[in-house]
Amino acid sequence: MLRYRNEGNMRTVYLDNNATTRVAPEVIEAMMPFFGELWGNPSSLHSFGGQIAKHIEQARQQVASLIGAFPEEIIFTSCGTESNNTALHGAHDTRPTAWPIITSQVDHPAVLEPCRNYKERGVKEIEIGVDRDGQLDLHGLEQALAAGPAITSIMWANNETGVVFPIKQISERVKEAGGVMHCDAVQAVGKLPINVADTAVDMLSISGHKLHAPKGVGVLYIRKGTTLSPLLRGGQQENGRRAGTENVPYIVGLGIACTLARQSLKEDQQRIQALRNRLESGILATCPDAHVNGIKADRLPNTSNISFEFIEGEALLYQLSDLGIAASSGSACASGSLEPSHVLKAMGVPLTAARGTVRFSLSRDTTDADVDYVLETIPSALERLRMLSPFA
Ligand code: PLP
Repeated sequence: MLRYRNEGNMRTVYLDNNATTRVAPEVIEAMMPFFGELWGNPSSLHSFGGQIAKHIEQARQQVASLIGAFPEEIIFTSCGTESNNTALHGAHDTRPTAWPIITSQVDHPAVLEPCRNYKERGVKEIEIGVDRDGQLDLHGLEQALAAGPAITSIMWANNETGVVFPIKQISERVKEAGGVMHCDAVQAVGKLPINVADTAVDMLSISGHKLHAPKGVGVLYIRKGTTLSPLLRGGQQENGRRAGTENVPYIVGLGIACTLARQSLKEDQQRIQALRNRLESGILATCPDAHVNGIKADRLPNTSNISFEFIEGEALLYQLSDLGIAASSGSACASGSLEPSHVLKAMGVPLTAARGTVRFSLSRDTTDADVDYVLETIPSALERLRMLSPFA
């Protein structure tokens, strides 16, 4: 089987799993009948529909098992972005408009942009900062919550640095203050053990394509008793909480992906972390002026965010890509200028380092040989770039 895109005979190594993961073969196999003979609409009363509905319920059960939820607390969406928007819209629409919205400066744009949109419409919005290691300013959060109930949305783990926030503690504090708590756990589910029953989160977002299911399917966990108004109206699907005919094949695939993640989570976590640590220490040992962002913080086992001083991260990515290695940068290319990412900015990473940042994100597909290849390749690629750099 072809594991990765292979151009000619060039070796390829995919280390961009926080962007998206390969769909697991078991997931593809489970989805196929739902593109063929099992094509009914699950809402139909006849047998074509009835036989489909039970597969959706099975997937709901499989997702619930991965995060310690009840199946009826799971609604399927089209992606993590929709789940985040549903949570924020649904909470704001049903709470007093005077309640502020609290998030963090390093949350994903799929949370930050809806929050900033509420701000433009007159809602008080508070963005909590982080320290140099990307850890949340819990004192700042405490001060924001001391003012009274709020809608709070804080991510479980950061997509760029992998830094993990203490969601149990945060969610309990939000509830004590009388507010509602949403957590974007898109990067955490499938990588860390998550049990919603151990936390006080009211809502939690999941995205299929970050855990070896396809792009275009997500989940919003909604704790029993949580009041929410739907973002999508126009049908009674998902218990009236998300209208629209269900994407049956992808939902079935996501269920299988959750089962696979649950079965191998512990083993994957340890193996992937050992590979990530070897990659990181190898790079630090051979590449001068390299720093790992968030190294002192609790981090996802698969993510390494490294700043290489005095180079452009994009230039290094192109060099690596030419050598068959796929990673991603810590900066967004905005209107022709290389703006450092909002996450690195919030952490106070100096511009010379932020611009040269590369994120490596591993998965259960990553092998020892992949890490060896990156370690063999990176010092010379870096050396070439630094020779060309006017800053070095
Ligand atoms: N939240 C986080 C933390 C993410 O990393 C991403 C995707 O990168 C999203 C939300 C958006 O998920 P989706 O691509 O399913 O819309």
